[in-house]
Amino acid sequence: MSVTQGTVLAYSENHEIMLQLLAKGRELADKVGVDLCALTVNPSDGRPGELVEHGADKVYVVDDPSMENFRVEPYRSVVLEAVNIAQPDIILIGATKRGKELAARVASALDTGCMTECFQLDVDDEGRLKAERLTYGGSTIAHEVSNRKPHMATVPSRAFNKLEPSQRAGEIVEIKVEISDPRVNVVETREKSKGDVNLEDASIIVSAGRGFKAEEDLKLLKELAEVLGANIGCTRPIAADLGWMEEWIGISGHKVSPKLYVACGVSGTIQHAAGIRDSQIIVSINNEETSNIHGFSDYSIVGDLYTVLPALTKALKEKLK
Ligand SMILES: Cc1cc2nc3c(=O)[nH]c(=O)nc-3n(C[C@H](O)[C@H](O)[C@H](O)COP(=O)(O)OP(=O)(O)OC[C@H]3O[C@@H](n4cnc5c(N)ncnc54)[C@H](O)[C@@H]3O)c2cc1C
Repeated sequence: MSVTQGTVLAYSENHEIMLQLLAKGRELADKVGVDLCALTVNPSDGRPGELVEHGADKVYVVDDPSMENFRVEPYRSVVLEAVNIAQPDIILIGATKRGKELAARVASALDTGCMTECFQLDVDDEGRLKAERLTYGGSTIAHEVSNRKPHMATVPSRAFNKLEPSQRAGEIVEIKVEISDPRVNVVETREKSKGDVNLEDASIIVSAGRGFKAEEDLKLLKELAEVLGANIGCTRPIAADLGWMEEWIGISGHKVSPKLYVACGVSGTIQHAAGIRDSQIIVSINNEETSNIHGFSDYSIVGDLYTVLPALTKALKEKLK
């Protein structure tokens, strides 16, 4: 196996984030004058080639049915093996739930640091990775520099735009990894409820806050979601306290970046705002004129959601007919 020196190595189990990492990785690799390597595990048809088309010079492929379910230890072994082969100076990992757990383990094994959830990346004159990331619930931006190689960063969904695919030459290399018996086994997997899936990738989200008085009233939100083709989200109390949904949006939940976010009966606390601030357009429906959410909404409807939602759904249905 040929060993490459000083590369940029990118990995995410989320295909879209992977393509976005490759765009930034390509820019960094060109700036430093090194190869861009991508790691992919159990790719479906055509995927390694697609990574080349989106900027990778080399794609390391691990094809192993035992890796079907994510367990952090085997995945850590796989990334470390790719690091061993690619000898990267810079490692970029998608900041999904799994990616964040994995990045921490890999950084620890490599005795290096990791700048997390970076929305801007560059290299300085000494080839060190520079990052910008949000801190204090998104109210400040931290500018950080990594001092130790390999420099590591995790990157959230939509921090960077993927490149247009192009016909490029690239190498696809299959690697075998010795997976020792993991200390944790998956005993059961269950599908999530429809509303909770892929919130990070959703381009339209309608979300519920405590302005909803009863679980059955969520049907008003579901009707609006159906017309808009939206995913459904909520604030933490709706999920964690009331148990009406499984997962929530915010600093301790999903961080989303849809084109349109419609907050219904949501007050807009800093903990919730931290999860939605990358939304392109925020629309709020709240009966309190002084509610926080209006302060960072692009469009505010001051009104009772029990009146506004059915009217909005009806109007949109007619408009989109
Ligand atoms: C460590 C920590 C982490 C947290 N992490 C998160 C997180 O990740 N995400 C998160 O969301 N929260 C999080 N929270 C909780 C957070 O502090 C707030 O409690 C929560 O965001 C408030 O949720 P809400 O907007 O649904 O409820 P509320 O703050 O009660 O707001 C309800 C809103 O609905 C409006 N309303 C009421 N009736 C109507 C009506 N009929 N029509 C229209 N509007 C109406 C009210 O005016 C009000 O503004 C966290 C808290 C802590 C301590």
